[in-house]
Amino acid sequence: MTAPADAAPKPSSNFLRQIVEHDLAGGRYAQRRFAGTPGDAAHHAAGPLDPAKIRTRFPPEPNGYLHIGHAKSITLNFGLAAEYGGACHLRFDDTNPEKEEQEYVDAILDAVTWLGFDWHAEFGERRASHLYYASDYFDFMARAAEALIGAGLAYVDEQSADEMRRHRGDFGHVGTDSAFRTRTPAENLARFRAMRAGELPDGAAVLRAKLDMASPNINLRDPALYRIKHAEHHNTGNTWCIYPMYAYAHPIEDALEGITHSICTLEFEDQRPWYDWLLDTLCTLGLLAQPRPHQYEFARLNVSYVITSKRKLKQLVDEHIVDGWDDPRMPTIVGLRRRGYTPEAICLLCERAGTSKAGGWTDYASLDAALREDLEGKAVRAMAVLDPVKLELTNWAELFGSVDFREPCHAGANPHRPELAPRAFSLGSEVWIERDDFAEVAPKGFFRLFPPSGASPGSKVRLKYGYVIECTGCAKDAGGAITAVTATIVPDTRSGTPGADAVKVKGTITWVGVHDAIAAELRLYDRLFTEAQPDAGGRDFKAALNPHSKTIASGFVEPSLASARPDDKFQFERHGYFVADRVDHAAGRPVFNRIAGLKDSWAR
Ligand code: ATP
Ligand code: MG
Repeated sequence: MTAPADAAPKPSSNFLRQIVEHDLAGGRYAQRRFAGTPGDAAHHAAGPLDPAKIRTRFPPEPNGYLHIGHAKSITLNFGLAAEYGGACHLRFDDTNPEKEEQEYVDAILDAVTWLGFDWHAEFGERRASHLYYASDYFDFMARAAEALIGAGLAYVDEQSADEMRRHRGDFGHVGTDSAFRTRTPAENLARFRAMRAGELPDGAAVLRAKLDMASPNINLRDPALYRIKHAEHHNTGNTWCIYPMYAYAHPIEDALEGITHSICTLEFEDQRPWYDWLLDTLCTLGLLAQPRPHQYEFARLNVSYVITSKRKLKQLVDEHIVDGWDDPRMPTIVGLRRRGYTPEAICLLCERAGTSKAGGWTDYASLDAALREDLEGKAVRAMAVLDPVKLELTNWAELFGSVDFREPCHAGANPHRPELAPRAFSLGSEVWIERDDFAEVAPKGFFRLFPPSGASPGSKVRLKYGYVIECTGCAKDAGGAITAVTATIVPDTRSGTPGADAVKVKGTITWVGVHDAIAAELRLYDRLFTEAQPDAGGRDFKAALNPHSKTIASGFVEPSLASARPDDKFQFERHGYFVADRVDHAAGRPVFNRIAGLKDSWAR
């Protein structure tokens, strides 16, 4: 039995916690002003001292559903803010008008809330919402672009996309200056305004920073700041036909919101010099104020047997390989939720995966282990039969006077929660048992039901919470398939009575009464992929799909589950953790999803 999750160790230190502690001890952000809403230097200068000791942010692009990798970023950013008296902003990085949709915005809000995090921060009396949209800063971004142009630090480049690519050079070759690079600030300003006024078609020009085409860091070779896109935006409608590039927008978003620690994944490491240059320059130009945010990178969360590329996840949905974004096999937050994984288990996995600069893989089994730890002490137990065959107790009427006699049984709801009322069900002359709990010819070490053979008697097992029974045989149909197993009750062996230990048995089997069991659809999910790294090395991840990732079984569950509501979680004895499906489960049509087995069946 594993310990309940609340016995988990306190969060361990990591390099980001050390950075935050160092900054707090040195008072790096102590004199920072924040007006309560994002704004430029003047706006913040007029505000009070920021009551938040630090500010972090989670900045999803609303172009897909969040997945387990995002959960890492959410727990990290919201976690740090909570730990150090700060605030964490939820910001939609909606700078790309074409791929973004309200559906995704709503799903992201829902996922963050469900994981247990809140973008409202309370300092004293004040409760402030820190939910922001990058698109709310488009005006400032354009103003900053004009300031860069005025300072001779940005120019409008009208090379073709192809020329631009060629002139950028690569790791081995320095880039070549664009012919447009020598335009005067006045010329550039006029062209930028023409871009903004819609006078140029898509792709005709970009605004670029004027840095160094020979820089060994390709990100510093005159990065693009603005492109033309005559497209409607989910927030700003048709106000704009130029949109800021992510690399330009993101540092500004951080600065306007008074972010102190801007935490991202390692692939942005080479962007840091640009991040620093842009913000320092805008501070020098008087548009922003010091102390400005700083960027820190950590290794992304990789989970084995899972893909976390939004594009590939979308492909699984679009090609109907899975049943939607919330398919219980998907690593999306909605998928994990529907599968039955709890926020506690997901957060525990993220904490245990650690935060470091060294990449690595977290085994999917750790998620199941975290789930077991969370549910062990919480989930109510129940008996269920996933692949039923009937067991007939042939001496029932003889012992109890009638085949219709029912023997009431009780079982604890959860050994860690003795205060809960016990479950009630009853034993009758016929019960459902698992088909594989019977073997006509017992393999070695098989301690469940098998019939007499030669001189050896049939096996004896205990029906859990009931009697010891002795197997007498089975019935078959014309095709030889087993239709029923037969056994007799060994009298006076009822669990909880003095005679219970009189007969020693090696096996105990679970069952549900034919007279009171509830028929249920049981969705048995397994990993979506058979390979630990399904898309490693550019391999076609669809070749690694697990054909057995979803099995639908018609089984039976004990009558105590009649009151199960969608999302209720249970431990089905011997089988694992199950959840009443949050979409399809209904009282008259029970549907349970298997979340995880009781132990790791994939371990070698
Ligand atoms: P893309 O930008 O390609 O659409 P993305 O996964 O980066 O995909 P975003 O919406 O930009 O999606 O991500 C929001 C935040 O989540 C970013 O700060 C990103 O670094 C972080 N994030 C995404 N995937 C992971 C991961 N596997 N581990 C940790 N953080 C992640
Ligand atoms: Mg991204």
